[in-house]
Formats: sequence, C-alpha cells, structure tokens
Amino acid sequence: MSENKLVIAILIGAIAGIICGALFGPAMSSIAWIGDLFLDTLKMMIIPLIVAAVISGVASLGDIRKLGKVGGMTLLYYASTTAVAVFTGLIVVNVIQPGEGIEQLSEQIPDMISGKQDIGLVEIVKSLISPNIVAAAADTQLLPIIVFCLLFAAALTTIGEKNKTLLSFFDGLNETMMKLVIWIMMLAPVGIFALIAGQIGRAGGIEAIKNELASVGSYCLTVLLGLGIHSILLFILLVSFSRFGKDYLIQLSRALMTAFGTASSSATLPLTMECAIEAGVDKRSVKFVAPLGATVNMDGTALYEAVAVMFIAQAYNIPLSITAQIVVFITATLAAIGAAGIPQAGLVTMLIVLDAVGLPAEGIGLILAVDWFLDRFRTTVNVWGDSVGIAIIEGFLPEKTG
Ligand code: ASP
Repeated sequence: MSENKLVIAILIGAIAGIICGALFGPAMSSIAWIGDLFLDTLKMMIIPLIVAAVISGVASLGDIRKLGKVGGMTLLYYASTTAVAVFTGLIVVNVIQPGEGIEQLSEQIPDMISGKQDIGLVEIVKSLISPNIVAAAADTQLLPIIVFCLLFAAALTTIGEKNKTLLSFFDGLNETMMKLVIWIMMLAPVGIFALIAGQIGRAGGIEAIKNELASVGSYCLTVLLGLGIHSILLFILLVSFSRFGKDYLIQLSRALMTAFGTASSSATLPLTMECAIEAGVDKRSVKFVAPLGATVNMDGTALYEAVAVMFIAQAYNIPLSITAQIVVFITATLAAIGAAGIPQAGLVTMLIVLDAVGLPAEGIGLILAVDWFLDRFRTTVNVWGDSVGIAIIEGFLPEKTG
C-alpha cells in the first residue's frame, strides 16, 4: 500500500472508530482486544529498535566529540520547547479560568495514583540508571536503556578498527527492525479503529462521555486550546529552522494518528522514526533524536500538567501567586520529562507539581474521568514535538564521512 493510501486508510479507521464507538457504545469494548494486539505488536518492537537505533545512530556520528554539539542542541530544543509549552498552558489557563465555580470537589485520592505519592524529582534523576539493564528492558524502562546505549556507542567509537563487526551488527539490526515497522504499519488502520472504538466503548459510550465532558468542559477546552496553540508554534519553528515545510506534517500524519490511537509516545516511536526517514530526514538525526524524544520530550504533557494543576487550584479556591506559578512552571517541565511515554503517565507525575505548590492530591479526582480523552491529544502533541525536533536537529549534524 502506498504512503498516501495508508494515511487515508488510517484516517478512515480513526473516524470509523469514533462513529462505531458513538453508535454502538459499550458493545464496542468487545473488539478492544484487537486494538490491544496492535499496541502490543508496536511495543514488541521498542527495545530492539531503540538499542539498534541509538547505538548505530550515535556511532555513525563518527567522533564522540561531535556528539556533544548534537546532544547539546537536542537538549536545548527539548528544554526550550517544553518551557514554551508550559508557559502557553499557564497563559491560557489564567485567561480562561476554567476552575472558577466548580462545585463538586473530590475528596478521595483516585486508586490510580494512590501509593505513588512519594514520587519526586530525586526519583526522576535516579530513573536514568538501572542496576539491571535486562530487568529495565523487561519492564520497558526506556531511559536507562538509552543512557546505557549512549555510553556503549560512545565507547564503541573509541576502540578503532575493532568496532567494525559490532557496528555492522547494530546497523543490520536497525535496518531489519525498520523493515518490520513497515510491515506492522499496514495493520494501523484496523488497529487504530479498534483502539478508538474500544476506548469509547470502555468509557461507556458517547452519552457517558458527554456527561463527563459537560462537568469539566471548559477545562478540556482550555487544554485543547493550549495544545492547539503550541502545535502551531512548533509548526512555525519547523518551517523557520529546517528545510522541511508543510508536507512534513502530512508525511508524519501516520505517526500522529497512531499517537492519538495509542496514547503512547513509546509505542508510536517505531512509526515516528519510519515516517521521518520516509520524509527524507537524515537517518542519524532520526536514530539519535527520536528515541530520546519519545522518552523525555513531552510538550503536550507539560502543558497539560500546568493547566490541570492551575485548574485544581482554581476549583479548590486556593489562589496561586506568581511565585507559586513559577514553581508550577519549573516542576511541570521536570514532571513531563519524568513521565514515561505510556497512557496516562502524566497523571501520576502531576503529583510532583501538586505537592510542590501544596495542593491536595485528591484534586486529581476532578480530572480523572476525562484524562484518557485528553491523553490522546497531548500524546499527539508530544509526538509532533519529537518529530519537529528530529527535523531541526538534522541541521546541526556533522558532515557525513565516507
Ligand atoms: N501518554 C503520554 C505519552 O505517551 C504521556 C502522558 O502525558 O500521560 O506521551
């Protein structure tokens, strides 16, 4: 199937998923397993793909000293775009004030986050390293795997001719994984259909969703407006600082729709990489920037966390001063970095932000019901931020040798 046909097929799958979910409601939860199967197939790819891509990508930069500049620019891109996202969220939520007049305050800490209150910034830093790399892979903890692969690749570039066999092994592994991704991508229309229809079914059908949205509708609109503005800012950045134009958005649309369907940037990573390569981005940038981005660069999550925390403060009628909002700004940025690329991870790391400004964890109960819905939009923005990053960082790569 050609690229364009696949985009159209995925789009039809997504729209049909919404329509069937709306028409048949909870009955659609019986096909949710097909979506889960698609999700698992994508997840199955993640570890071997990341290992092969990061090692062959970093090693292909040639000289370890060159990694410094590319790495520095990548981190600068991540940090600055995430900060802009949080700032945008804070402006939008301060202007709209969606939490004003909310009457039903939650009194219980939701099950999903209970027992996780000891999460903190130290945990985020500690999560960079795992004492057991095999256990980390088994648990799909991507950050320690990436750190290990970066170090491994750096060492590989320093052992001279002896690295040849390993380099060609990881190159071959990477090419093979990308071939598998192309095959799996063909399943996306059906997979995304089932994921969306199944989720609407699990949520109790369109009527139940309408009721949930009605109670916190202006909060949802605030998040969506913020995400929309930030996506446009990212697009402007893409066009101004890379050689890619609006076609890039279309070329990446398969990955973006998969992000919407799966609510997981990690599961979408294989498609993000494949679409960026097909769009013509230098493979070295794709291999290095995409895995790191799917793990730490989450603009949508950062924006959402800032809006959600401000919403909770407004609902509980606890005004947050400018200083407190600066604390929200900093902690939301860090909490988004710490969130894993899996569904609803942002809801858990939001505890860090709530705790930093002294808001009750119970507040999460106010936004829990609509979180699965907003998760899909923020994950799409997370993947869009990663994709734009891949295109921009390409401009900072060293000249190709040999
Ligand atoms: N689901 C998001 C992602 O995978 C993380 C989150 O915000 O919950 O990118």
